[in-house]
Amino acid sequence: MMTFASNNPTKQAMIRGFFQRCPSCGKGHLFRAYLKQVDACSECGEAFGHIRADDGPAWLTVMVTGHVIVALMMSVEALLTVPLWASITAFSALSGAMVLGLLQRAKGIFIGLIWQTKASEAISTAALSAAD
Ligand SMILES: [Zn+2]
Repeated sequence: MMTFASNNPTKQAMIRGFFQRCPSCGKGHLFRAYLKQVDACSECGEAFGHIRADDGPAWLTVMVTGHVIVALMMSVEALLTVPLWASITAFSALSGAMVLGLLQRAKGIFIGLIWQTKASEAISTAALSAAD
């Protein structure tokens, strides 16, 4: 089985997350539903339920999708004569497909990054310090 190895641990965790695998071992599944991560890896037991990617995945998905769609729309408009209804229909469908295809992978990237950098623990520690 591929474990998506890299020499850079942060990059490795993000790549494993992109492929919806456990950032720690690269074997267990990272998601139990489309956007619900597992509480803990079935292979190595690493906990992921406490990690909150918040709106990072949506930001990354919209940024990538927007750049691709706008570039494609401008290219098509420059090269071809396409009826407006066809252009709107095709690019709306393509945008929706890209968002659905990228959102889970983007969340995997962020969970891998947050897990590897222990960012969720840093936020918890900062919140506890502020409460004192
Ligand atoms: Zn694991």
